[in-house]
Amino acid sequence: MSRRVLLAAPRSFCAGVDRAIEIVERLLSEHGPPIYVRHQIVHNDHVVRRLERLGAVFVDDEDEIPAGEICVLSAHGVAPAVRENCEKRGLRVVDAVCPLVSKVHAEARRYADTGHLVALVGHADHVEVIGTRGERPDSTVVVESPEAAARLESDGRPVAVISQTTLSLDDVRATVDALEQRFGTLTRPGADDICYATQNRQDAVKRLAEEATLILVIGSQTSSNAQRLVEVARIAGAEAELIDGESELDDDAVSGHEVIGLTAGASTPGELVDATIERLAALGYGEVVEITVAREDVHFRLPREVASA
Ligand code: SF4
Repeated sequence: MSRRVLLAAPRSFCAGVDRAIEIVERLLSEHGPPIYVRHQIVHNDHVVRRLERLGAVFVDDEDEIPAGEICVLSAHGVAPAVRENCEKRGLRVVDAVCPLVSKVHAEARRYADTGHLVALVGHADHVEVIGTRGERPDSTVVVESPEAAARLESDGRPVAVISQTTLSLDDVRATVDALEQRFGTLTRPGADDICYATQNRQDAVKRLAEEATLILVIGSQTSSNAQRLVEVARIAGAEAELIDGESELDDDAVSGHEVIGLTAGASTPGELVDATIERLAALGYGEVVEITVAREDVHFRLPREVASA
């Protein structure tokens, strides 16, 4: 049997990432540089460097932006305190938060305002979780693991559970099960917080792992959803590596594998996948078979500040 590549579909950009990048591009073309962006617009170094070349300026804190300038808020969302500070400083805010993250923020507010302790399943230091928790910090506790869930104290309050959008479905399930064991029935949103793009990319990786013995995930170290794809692949029994592009491909690491799976996180540009396919072809993996587990046709409307640009 020939050496081949199984290419995951869906892979690469999701609708929220597409939208966030388009917002910055449109602002740059309408207003010219600099356009300030608070935090990496999406967690991919290639995207950030390309936008920097076009004139975007990325800052860690809105206090670094001169008064009167445009401040784009990244796809991951921010706490209300950040918006208030932007307003106080006279910045012109354009919000590139993904609507699916905004949905989780709304859940946090609704549950906290109806007397719940909000258990937010996620990584405490991830920027999305910091933003969501910031909606109602006094009523929200970040729960990082089933062990932490088992130790949680609710002080008699009913417990509601929400989650970061880019976690592994299986990890969330384990933590929610532990919360249920401790508190009984939990209040939960009607639809999962793990977004469609995260779910589809994880489903595709599980399918690849049925045949591929090595799965390459293209994405930056900072990308939560790409990191989770590596974990999901390993749990499914394959070897898995996170690479930031074809230049990080280790020839020796791939050579022992007949079938290689290839996917990319939701913030990874498709060009990096194409370049990796070319590189693999040069190493003898010329046959590429696309494995499609879902078709995505999701688009989010642009904010009004750029919709007509
Ligand atoms: S991964 Fe999901 S939540 Fe995050 S930007 Fe993409 S669609 Fe939105």
